[in-house]
Amino acid sequence: MTPFPSQTLTNIDYVVELLYKAKRAVVLTGAGISTPSGIPDFRSEGTGLWSRDEPMEVASLNTFRTDPERFFVWFRPLANLIYNAKPNLAHIALARLEKAGRIHSIITQNIDALHQKAGAKNVIEMHGTLRTLSCTQCFHQAEAQNYLKAFVEQGKLPRCSGCGSLMKPNVILFGEQLPQQAWCDAQRESRQCDLMLVAGSSLEVLPVAGLPMQAIDRGAHLVILNNSTTYLNVRADVVIKEDVEEVLPAIAEQVLNG
Ligand SMILES: [Zn+2]
Repeated sequence: MTPFPSQTLTNIDYVVELLYKAKRAVVLTGAGISTPSGIPDFRSEGTGLWSRDEPMEVASLNTFRTDPERFFVWFRPLANLIYNAKPNLAHIALARLEKAGRIHSIITQNIDALHQKAGAKNVIEMHGTLRTLSCTQCFHQAEAQNYLKAFVEQGKLPRCSGCGSLMKPNVILFGEQLPQQAWCDAQRESRQCDLMLVAGSSLEVLPVAGLPMQAIDRGAHLVILNNSTTYLNVRADVVIKEDVEEVLPAIAEQVLNG
């Protein structure tokens, strides 16, 4: 780990102070928190993994309905990465802060369940999850782990144990509504928090990207930890453009042991 520049150290101290003072801190995470675990942002082009296909087209509800095999061929390398991924130091730092009562909830745009694997409990998954599957005909729900191994290793498509129809991973595809409960929960968390910490999200995917605005409009402090600029950097109390896998453990260490 490289030492931080002095300005970053000052900013980390300020984030630590905000976390101490906060009565209800909420974290919003995006793809950037999982890239150190080897999972690319499947909504972005140019990630290298699926250069042949346009994600917005192939990862859509329409493709899943009309040509599910094409969807599953595209999805298999991503599912394989997620199936084998381990939480990184950033996930672990957030889980420790939650356990210590320093953060109230984590709203995530990721489908990889790495926050939960790191031990976090109160996680709101805005784009669904790969942990479960639903039957496209009878809506039977199943744990994905029973199907994922055969899918990623042999390409065996998940089929319903009840009716034999194809199962759809409970991830939100392009053209699909956000899960209503998660959206309600995320809005409530954003409106009730007094500190929102954005980690590893460029705040480009709506409507989730609008949640920090709901927080600051109600007087919450805003911290942005992301290695590229977001539209809300100008409104943030603190911006740290460093690797989240280095910054979050440094913050957690100070909050928990400082
Ligand atoms: Zn079924």
